[in-house]
Amino acid sequence: DRLREELNQRASTDELTGALTRRALRETATVHIEQSRRFRREVAVLLLDMDHFKRINDLHGHATGDRVLRHAATLLRQHLRPDSLLARYGGEEFVALAPVEDLRGARLVADRLREAIEGAAWEQIVLASISATVSVGVTLIAPDESLDDALRRADEALYRAKHEGRNQVQVGLRAAESAGE
Ligand code: GH3
Ligand code: MG
Ligand code: MG
Repeated sequence: DRLREELNQRASTDELTGALTRRALRETATVHIEQSRRFRREVAVLLLDMDHFKRINDLHGHATGDRVLRHAATLLRQHLRPDSLLARYGGEEFVALAPVEDLRGARLVADRLREAIEGAAWEQIVLASISATVSVGVTLIAPDESLDDALRRADEALYRAKHEGRNQVQVGLRAAESAGE
């Protein structure tokens, strides 16, 4: 019934952004990954972290920060296909799972999301003179590995994206991939 549906929806989505909660992502990921494999697609795992978000809060206030997060989630959803999952993974961090053809496709998705955030009309959206960007670590989930393992690799790639200057995508390669498999 509708009440139950609404309660389920509330439990599995983040209040501020409407993205899946971390727990809901975990619960949905396995089926999502199996389904992608059935269609012979790879699964890209993207870890996205807003750049210098503390600065946005400090300069414009927490409420503006909240509005930026909410709109960032909207943009990410708009630029992901409907067969992807989006979760709010931490304060200003998101995780997306997206079926792709290959690593190149994964990188394209990541770039598209990064550009969507960078190119948004932020001043009109939050009525403050701000810019917002995101750094992204992206990798493919190997057939024999868990979401956590893939997330670890995405996190290492994200760390590099931050270190190399932010507002960029870095790819996390498995040993076999870097050996030119
Ligand atoms: P970096 O580019 O290295 O990621 O810098 P950063 O400032 O984004 O990273 P840091 O982890 O230092 O700070 C994250 C900030 O995000 C701090 C925290 O107050 C803010 N934040 C987390 N959750 C929310 C939220 O729900 N709303 C608002 N407005 N701010 C949040
Ligand atoms: Mg962070
Ligand atoms: Mg950040």
